[in-house]
Amino acid sequence: MSAKNDVNSLKDQNEKNKHKVHCTFCPSKMLNAGAARLVNIEFNLPYIHRKGEGEADQQELITDYWLVEDMYTFENIGVSHTVDNIKYLACADCERGPVGWHDLSTKKSYIALSRVKHE
Ligand SMILES: [Zn+2]
Repeated sequence: MSAKNDVNSLKDQNEKNKHKVHCTFCPSKMLNAGAARLVNIEFNLPYIHRKGEGEADQQELITDYWLVEDMYTFENIGVSHTVDNIKYLACADCERGPVGWHDLSTKKSYIALSRVKHE
């Protein structure tokens, strides 16, 4: 199965997330079904690490994100560190991340499809 097919199976006909979005490491729920919209945007996200492990200096270019218009849409979300206008988002419970980022100027949040679990 290609990555493209994988993404298509996760969204509904309105480009919204068909399934609930969870942390990949613990049962923490981040988003309800239908709460976010798929966007194609190129963003370099640092590799996943645990709080206190130090900064990951390597980044991964990810292009498929769930766009969340309002921070209050999240069921649970944590923030790790802030760089310029970007707040990196992490799991609220196990603090692993980043799973995405929050843009402080537009107030929009982006969750990487490849960093979360859909079910
Ligand atoms: Zn977690």
